Amino acid sequence: MSVLTEVYSFYGAFSGTKGVYGFSEQGRPLVYCTVGEGRPLVLAQYAMHAREHITARLALKQAADGLRGKTGSVVYLPLTNPDGVKLCEEGRPQWKANAEGVDLNVNFPARWGTGVQNKRSAGASDFIGEFPLCAAESAALAEFTRRVRPDMTVSFHAKGEEIYWYFYQQEPALSRDRALAEIAAGETGYVLRTPSGSAGGYKDWCVEALGIPALTVEVGGDSLSHPIGQESAEEIYGRNRTLLPALLAALAGADKKDEG
Ligand SMILES: [Zn+2]
Repeated sequence: MSVLTEVYSFYGAFSGTKGVYGFSEQGRPLVYCTVGEGRPLVLAQYAMHAREHITARLALKQAADGLRGKTGSVVYLPLTNPDGVKLCEEGRPQWKANAEGVDLNVNFPARWGTGVQNKRSAGASDFIGEFPLCAAESAALAEFTRRVRPDMTVSFHAKGEEIYWYFYQQEPALSRDRALAEIAAGETGYVLRTPSGSAGGYKDWCVEALGIPALTVEVGGDSLSHPIGQESAEEIYGRNRTLLPALLAALAGADKKDEG
């Protein structure tokens, strides 16, 4: 079954709060499914890079698994780049961008255009777009994020078993965000990394423009090749099963401390 079919069937059968937050360049619905209710609220987004569509399958597994008794909610956006994923599945296995050749994860207004790998023309990856949020998919994601006002966002990418969390934040955000990243590393066994030379990402924008903690989680071992196949889904799910519930618990704990 194609990733698009899997996601849209899951969405159709999902009995909780759900909706369409926008449409892709080619008119496909951008869907979300909410598990749990209230705060803290984590927004988790997947498959922004087309060839990393194994993360969409991870979203469905995590959403079906629930919050493991934790309070709050997770808003799952399982497929933020459906056109790109379709292109990838239908003959362009190394494709990362949307169908117009804009790399969504360098299209956000966070030091846009300053990344060392940025490209100025459309293609499979790294094209920053004509202007920030020029792509329908990134514009819809930014608008939805502002509307939902998450306490934290987590972006799932592939690959390398690494977690990124830093984007020039100052104290006290620096310590707060590092602590959450350390929890994420503990849950998954992935390694924390501080990148140099990246800009314009969704995580970067959440940190800089919204002032909230934001993680990029790179699932899948580095020895796997793109696109990571379904045979690795169980292993990846195993590593990421407790991640979002643990982050909810940490965020709830931080609230209590603020009140005290
Ligand atoms: Zn990626």
